[in-house]
Formats: sequence, C-alpha cells, structure tokens
Amino acid sequence: MVKEEEGFKANVPTKIRKRAHIVPREENGIDLSAVSPFAISVCQKLQDAGYKAFIVGGAVRDLLIGAKPKDFDVATDATRKKSKVTRRAIIIGRRFRLVHVNKGAETIEVATFRGFAKQGVTKDEDGVITNDNVFGEQYEDAARRDFTVNAMYFDPISGDLYDYHHGLDDIRERKIRMIGDPATRYREDPVRILRAIRIAAKLGFTIDEKTAAPMHYMQTLLLSVPSARLADEFSKMVLSGSAVACMELMNRYDISIPIPLFDVLKRTFGLPFVRKGLERCDARVALGKSISTSFLFAVLLWHEMKEEVAKSTGKTPGQIYEEAAKKVADSYRWDGLQSRYVSDMAIIWKLQPRFLVRSRRAAMKLLQHPRFRAAYDFLLLRASSGDASHELADWWTAYEGATDEERLEMSKEAEHQDRKERERLRQERAAEGKSEEGEADGEEKEKKKRRRRRKKRFDRSKPSKSEKASSDKEKVSK
Ligand code: ATP
Ligand code: MG
Repeated sequence: MVKEEEGFKANVPTKIRKRAHIVPREENGIDLSAVSPFAISVCQKLQDAGYKAFIVGGAVRDLLIGAKPKDFDVATDATRKKSKVTRRAIIIGRRFRLVHVNKGAETIEVATFRGFAKQGVTKDEDGVITNDNVFGEQYEDAARRDFTVNAMYFDPISGDLYDYHHGLDDIRERKIRMIGDPATRYREDPVRILRAIRIAAKLGFTIDEKTAAPMHYMQTLLLSVPSARLADEFSKMVLSGSAVACMELMNRYDISIPIPLFDVLKRTFGLPFVRKGLERCDARVALGKSISTSFLFAVLLWHEMKEEVAKSTGKTPGQIYEEAAKKVADSYRWDGLQSRYVSDMAIIWKLQPRFLVRSRRAAMKLLQHPRFRAAYDFLLLRASSGDASHELADWWTAYEGATDEERLEMSKEAEHQDRKERERLRQERAAEGKSEEGEADGEEKEKKKRRRRRKKRFDRSKPSKSEKASSDKEKVSK
C-alpha cells in the first residue's frame, strides 16, 4: 500500500488563511465581457437579497489566463433553499449543498460555502473525507479547495478578486500548487492526483515539485475510489481538449487510472492511429467544435476490435464485425461507457468493411446512413495512420462531394476497377495454382520416367523374346 510519508500525521489541518488578498477590478485584469451574463445575474440576485456571491473555481482561473471558462460556478453564504434565486432553480443531492440554476442550455452551479466544523467533516481511518456536508466561512471554503489557482473568488458586481492562497502568484508562475500538505490532501481525496494532471495539461502549467512528489507513490489510493468516478475523470481527461498532454503527463509521473479503459489507452497510446485520434479530438476542441464520445471510444478500442475481428467465426464481413463489436463493447460496457455510446461506437466499426463495397446501390446506402459522417471520419483517421488505403479514403471524399451523375460514374468506374482487381487476384491465384500444378506435373513426369527406367532394367534382366524363343526351342529339342 501507500508508503507513509515521513512526518505525516493523519488529520493534519489544511493550511488556513483567514484573510484574502483583495485585488480590485483595475488590477486583476478580468474581462467582464468574458463572464456569462447569466452567472452575473445569479450573483446579483443573491447579493440583492443580502448574501455574498462570487464566481469561483475553474472559471476564475480560466478568466485570469484569458481562456474561455467551460462553465461558471457560484459560491455563496446563502443556504441552499435561499440560493433558489429563480423558479428554475433545482436543489441537487443530499451530500453536497448545491443548487442548479438553469437558463436555456446554461446551468450555473450555486454552492453554499463549505466549512471545517470538526463535528461536520468526518474522515475514515485512511484520512479520506467521508462527509463534508457542512456550512462554513468563505475562508474555510477556500482552504477546502484543491489547488491555489482554483481557490479564488471573483465578485462580478464590484469586480474585486479574493485570493486566499496566492493563487494569482501561481497563475503568473504557471504552477499547479496544492493548498496545504499535498500528501494529506491526496489522502482525503486521491482523485486530486488526476485533477492535478488534467488541469496542468489543460493550462500548460507545471506541477509544483512538492505537489507532484507524492503523486506516484500515493496512486494506489485510487484503487479505493469508486470506478464510476474514475471513469468520469478518465472521460474528462480524454475529452478535455488536452488529451495528448494529459497522457504525456500521466506517463511522465508514471500514474495509472485503475480501470480497464485506461489500461487500453496506456497500451495503445504509442500507436499512430490512437495518437492521431487523440490529436484530432484536441484540435476539434481548440476550434470550439464538439467531440463525439462514441467516436473517441471507437478510436481507443479499435485495436481490441481488430483482434476480435481476427478471431471471429462469422461468415460475412457484416457478421464478423457484428460479433466482434458485441464482444468488445460488452467487456467495457460498465467502464464509463454508457449504452448509447456503446451502440454508436459499434456502428462506426460495423460500417468500416462497407466502405470497401462501392457499387451504386451499396455506396448510396452507406452515404445515406445516419452515422455515415462519423464512420467516414473514422476511415480518414485510419487512412492517415496506414490502417486503410489512402485511395479508398480519397474516393469516398470525392464521392461525398459529387453530384448524383458523377456518383453514378464513380460507382461504375469503381465497380469496373474492383472487378479488374478481383480478376487480377483470381489470375494471380490461378497462376500460383498453375505453377504448383506445373511442379506437380514435373514430379509426376519424373516418377513416370523412374518407373519406365526401372521397368527397362527389369525387362533387360529378363530374356528377350528371341532369347526366350531359342531357349524354348532348346528345351523342346532336349
Ligand atoms: P474544469 O475547467 O475542468 O471545470 P474546475 O477546476 O472548474 O476545472 P470542477 O470539477 O468544475 O473543476 O470543480 C470546480 C471547483 O471545485 C474547482 O476549481 C475546485 O476549487 C473545487 N474542486 C473540485 N474538485 C475538487 C476536489 N476533488 N477537491 C477539492 N476541491 C475541488
Ligand atoms: Mg468547472
């Protein structure tokens, strides 16, 4: 298990700073136009009702480095019933004091400051927090967050930034630094090891030496984390837009996530197909495009899929792929792969052999398939890493962009080519067969020759007809 760090004592209180360094609007450089107007209005409503309300966590960190926040979280001293600022607010969960406020597609998570009250926070014998459902002061809430850059509070009304743990200095130094004693904080929640890596990869920051030091030897604690949470963290890593950077940091610090899907990625990350797949996802996020989870999982498990295809006993390519896809999907179904991702992933795979059939009807049918685009993107990725022919990928690119008449011509031409190719293969096989036949003939001839020679020798050893006749005559005369 985990090596006990020298001097480590269970339940060492995390470093508590009661006073925040307040950086006014003019100095903190946060661009208010980058803040969600809905998040501002939620804070405004809470403040109007006499409460404190701040934008907090990852959003503040992202605003400070000029990145676009993924979502906005609000922290307040209002209790959760009071945080129901609109009728569209929903109280979430029993364990966490959260309220979700929705407007259109946007959800703002409003949480009451969490505190340190001794009777409220309980840790098990390993130091893992088992109950953290306790109200607190803002400074307590700050100290309970993971990294200094994640523990800043921005008041969008006054424009002031509240920094309790020198997060701003760490933003400037581009450092991920744990608040308090890193080993204690990993023990409380081992997922912080993965969060340090994911956030460092996302921001291009380095992990502070002391924060990084216990990560490797404390990773065995991840075994006690429910696999659903690990799978969720794994999905966040690969879908974060910095999947490649995350994997490189995971390798550098020699950290593994104890779920089968991560093992697969660790094994296949070196393959051009998988690496290119992850790069493609990262590039899409950078362009503000969405990534399909099923596509990404289809990439991660393609290697396994091919192994299953090779083993399958199905008769037609359709059956072979069906059988293999089912096997692979079934073995990872509970590993963060929801059913709808599983079925979408299997469709992407099953459409792959259909790209080889380019006859008019088959090609048209494939083009009209609802998952054509994903399957076609998958084919392009395969072609770019030598797993499918460039010619085939180019043909489908041209086919997709062609008019109906052009498509007809293309199919005719392709069919003609495919026929020629089949004929060439047939002839090749026949030629191989013939030469084998030739060899067989030769052997047969040789045998016949040998047989004839043997017979001759035998015949020579027998008396010739004339000899026989004269000897017969001799016998008679005798
Ligand atoms: P992302 O950009 O991926 O959303 P984030 O830092 O916002 O990154 P969230 O999971 O949205 O990550 O968490 C919001 C905030 O809650 C964090 O910034 C951090 O302050 C706090 N937090 C989240 N997870 C933990 C944890 N395991 N331990 C301590 N604090 C946490
Ligand atoms: Mg967040």
